[in-house]
Amino acid sequence: MIVSIFYGYIKDRYVSSSTLIYKTNDKLYVFDPGADRRIGLYLKKQKLNIAILTHNHIDHLYNIKLLPRKTNIVSNGYVFKENQFFKYNYPHFILPLFYYAHSGEDIAFYFKEEKLLFAGDLFWWIDQPPRNWLNIEDPYAISNKLLKKARKQILESYDIDVIIPGHGKPLFLSH
Ligand SMILES: [Zn+2]
Repeated sequence: MIVSIFYGYIKDRYVSSSTLIYKTNDKLYVFDPGADRRIGLYLKKQKLNIAILTHNHIDHLYNIKLLPRKTNIVSNGYVFKENQFFKYNYPHFILPLFYYAHSGEDIAFYFKEEKLLFAGDLFWWIDQPPRNWLNIEDPYAISNKLLKKARKQILESYDIDVIIPGHGKPLFLSH
């Protein structure tokens, strides 16, 4: 189940990604630990097992330095354990949706039961979702053309009730 969600923000030069904490019977996961120090200090106190990243941008991962030492870090399909990397099988409660458009190694996570898309920077905005949220340009993207294509494809392929953008407030979709 989802334990908590922190919404990412961009304020002047202050920036941090959205962060989601998910608990199963035997493991505690964090998705994008972000860069906000207060959230980092909160994460430090949790019994985390695994940190899963949407992509390797500093505002999404800076807090890994504050995570409990034994937390495994998962990036782009690989888990790092004691200086070695291994192919990672993502847990059953999510579908990793790989695309190439924002950082070049991007994943959005679809939470099946919750019908929730933890979007990473597939979608992000400053605060509230803008009216043109589907076609908003990403000044940091490798390709806005590929980005828009990935958004469209993901929205058409999955039954999504809510999008948690990389930064900004959630977007609730009505069908
Ligand atoms: Zn990014």
